[in-house]
Amino acid sequence: MTTIADRISIAQSRIHQAAQKCARQQHDIALLAVSKTKPVADIIEAYEAGQRKFGENYVQEGEQKIAELSEQYSDIEWHFIGPLQSNKSKIVAENFDWMHTVSRAKIATRLSEQRPATKAPLNVCIQVNVSNEQSKSGVALTEVTELAEHILQLDNLVLRGLMAIPTATDDAELQRQEFAALHEAFKQLKAKYSQVDTLSMGMSNDLNIAIEQGSTMVRIGSAIFGKRN
Ligand SMILES: *Cc1c(COP(=O)(O)O)cnc(C)c1O
Repeated sequence: MTTIADRISIAQSRIHQAAQKCARQQHDIALLAVSKTKPVADIIEAYEAGQRKFGENYVQEGEQKIAELSEQYSDIEWHFIGPLQSNKSKIVAENFDWMHTVSRAKIATRLSEQRPATKAPLNVCIQVNVSNEQSKSGVALTEVTELAEHILQLDNLVLRGLMAIPTATDDAELQRQEFAALHEAFKQLKAKYSQVDTLSMGMSNDLNIAIEQGSTMVRIGSAIFGKRN
């Protein structure tokens, strides 16, 4: 039986090995532990193993976990990584430290307006639809610049980078192409804006290719917390 602590250390060594293979440093790639659907006891177990960044997909679930844990575990960094309807943006603005899935100007404006003055600006990534599947959320690569310029004008948001969920496929070459396209867009954005430093891509099954293609933050759920129901 492996524990959550074991699986975090396995995930870290996978990151280390993937980084070594392409002459990168392990510490340049952050591990975001995706705790959606999992109980707070699992988050605490991961915290005790040294994990500090956690990702949640569902607004109300995230809000509740943050309420339960934020006092005692005040150095947890909470990342929202799910789809967001504009009528729930306030909950994200008031509770999370990061928002990875900004894909509309209107949501960005609302998040900035709703961010409490007592909190640091919300760190945001633009979600890009690299697979061009109609069903996927995210902006097209050609729309990144326009949305980035909008976000840069908002007082309570800090644009940190780009995020994508690639096509679910066993075709490694297709995944590599999609990640490479996102990496290229990221490099262009970073060259223009010095605060841009985050390329959020890579999950339990495609972490190696994501790191090879420049990911700076991998989002790992099932490989740490086990299968979700
Ligand atoms: C669920 C989820 C993850 C984690 O996926 P695993 O395959 O469990 O590692 C990462 N990113 C997003 C956006 C997710 O929704």
